[in-house]
Amino acid sequence: MNKISHIGIAVKDLESSRKFYEQDLNLEFEGTEIVESEQVKVAFYKIGESRFELLEPMSPESPIASFIEKRGEGIHHIALDVDDIKERLKHLRDNGIKLIHEEPKTGAHNSEIAFLHPKSTNGVLFELCQQKQEDS
Ligand code: ZN
Repeated sequence: MNKISHIGIAVKDLESSRKFYEQDLNLEFEGTEIVESEQVKVAFYKIGESRFELLEPMSPESPIASFIEKRGEGIHHIALDVDDIKERLKHLRDNGIKLIHEEPKTGAHNSEIAFLHPKSTNGVLFELCQQKQEDS
């Protein structure tokens, strides 16, 4: 595990959530992206080597929509940066950790991501995240 890649925060409305991060926390806004696989619009804020990702649901079918409905806005997941996501998933599976995604799927910035099941992690939704190696 290299570092915390990002912390995902579920919000009902991206536009109205941005003021706090930009004008109050003065974080660097890096742009937005639509992640079709999760039906979310994501806004990125850089903080040191990590990021905050604000997640706004784009449809009622989005996992973020059901999260907000059940638990309200707030911290949704913590993403850990890894070098070899397939190897990590195998290791966790072998150790008896329940996985939400047995195989990696495509996340923001073309990264490969997979979620661990909160039942195996004291209620924390962890994501493994392997960045695309474009410039190496
Ligand atoms: Zn994430």
